[in-house]
Amino acid sequence: MVPLSERAPVLAAWGAGVDSTAMLVELIERGEPVDQVLFADVGAEKRETLAFVPVFRAWLAERGVPSAIVRYTPKNFKNWPAYRTLTENLLTNGTLPGIAFGRGTCSQKWKAAPQHAWARTWPPAVAAWAAGRRVIKLIGYDASPADDRRYRAVQSLDDPLYEHRYLLREWGWRRDDCERRIAAAGLPVPPKSACFYCTAARPAEIRGLPSAQLRQIVLIEARAKPRLRNVEGLWRRTVKGARGATPRPGSMTEFIRQEGLLDPAEIEANAALAPRSLTRWQAAVAERQDDRPEMARWMTVFDAFAGDPGDMDAAPGLYTGLDRRP
Ligand code: SF4
Repeated sequence: MVPLSERAPVLAAWGAGVDSTAMLVELIERGEPVDQVLFADVGAEKRETLAFVPVFRAWLAERGVPSAIVRYTPKNFKNWPAYRTLTENLLTNGTLPGIAFGRGTCSQKWKAAPQHAWARTWPPAVAAWAAGRRVIKLIGYDASPADDRRYRAVQSLDDPLYEHRYLLREWGWRRDDCERRIAAAGLPVPPKSACFYCTAARPAEIRGLPSAQLRQIVLIEARAKPRLRNVEGLWRRTVKGARGATPRPGSMTEFIRQEGLLDPAEIEANAALAPRSLTRWQAAVAERQDDRPEMARWMTVFDAFAGDPGDMDAAPGLYTGLDRRP
């Protein structure tokens, strides 16, 4: 292998899903250089994805490939309480992820930006940029029609810092090729990686979520609802099912109700009472000048009172540290 000092450093954006995992397996087993693997944790992964992360990181480590988990670190808050994950960000601001409005801002902020922030302190990248070279960044878009759209949106971008490589597309690999490659390496095949409430999620993925995540979907949509104008919810708009499309409502909460994935009374209670408790708590937090509790505290109580949010205001400790109950 050509030494790192004589070539461009190779950085892989690993999503812990099928595509980018297969890309890395193939490349590493071919003996090609991969100098660093980065996984951006947005704090909203599926349980199966989180279980796969240490398994594959161990596989990488056994082959001498370093990996790191990066997270976006918010610094300046327009709204309180402070948030540390995309889910908490949505709840603090009362909104949906950018993709629900047809924009890629959530992915840019919570995945691409922390990877770039990490690279800015990575000596091989700094040395390459200082020498006028670009870092090779590996992206796991596959050769299927679904990824054609994503690829078309970025293929003409000229980035002075990175040369983006889409190896699965160069090899003509689709998702089933990737699944076979991972299995052939003796690894478990992970699920599609994405936030559990992503607009791109298929109905079958929502059906497979645990109750705690279904409740958070209900909460996110209910909290954002007063500000929604042109979208119905996380799935944007209703799909009627014409021309072979899978029918579904624009709101994931509505889907959860239609499918009986949560008790209807619990859905109503969570949709009505939990956002009210949250906004009252936010108002109390915003009044504090120092030592403000963060959104994670309220989320812990929400999860603990699952299905019974009417009792949340009486939760011991929910308002601990605040000057007064709102
Ligand atoms: S998985 Fe979906 S919701 Fe999560 S950051 Fe990416 S586009 Fe946004």
